[in-house]
Amino acid sequence: MNPAIDDDDLRGYLAEDLPATEMARIEKSLRDSADLRERLERVRLDRVDAGLHTLGAIWRRSRVTCLSRETLGSYLLDVLDRSQAGYIRFHLEVIECAFCQANFADLKRRSQTEPDGRPVDRERGRRIFDSSRELLAGDS
Ligand SMILES: [Zn+2]
Repeated sequence: MNPAIDDDDLRGYLAEDLPATEMARIEKSLRDSADLRERLERVRLDRVDAGLHTLGAIWRRSRVTCLSRETLGSYLLDVLDRSQAGYIRFHLEVIECAFCQANFADLKRRSQTEPDGRPVDRERGRRIFDSSRELLAGDS
C-alpha cells in the first residue's frame, strides 16, 4: 500500500523536487483521482512562484499522460464517462498541454467542417471521425 500523498508531496511534485519514482507515483495517482487533481490545483494556486508553466512543463516533458487522438475524439463527441472526461479537461485546460490542445483543435475542426469549410452536422461529424480513426490506426 502506497503512503498517502499530502500537500508537501504535491508541492514537491510541482517543483520537480522529488525522486523519479515518487514523481511517477504521484502522476499516476493524479490520473486516477479527481480529488487529488483538485488538491494539486489548490496547492498550485497557493504557490507564489508556480505558474501553469511549471506544471505544464513537467507533463509535456514526459508525455506519458498524453491523450490519444481516439480519446480526444471521444471527448469531442461527448461519449466518455464523467471521470474520463474530467481527466481530459484537466489535461487540456489545467495542464494546458500544447500537444494535446493542438490535436484536439485539429479534430474539432475536422469534425465541424466539410473540406470546403462548410459546417457539418453532429452525426456526420461522427462518421468522419470514425473513418479518420481507421486512417490513423496505421500510423502510430
Ligand atoms: Zn498532452
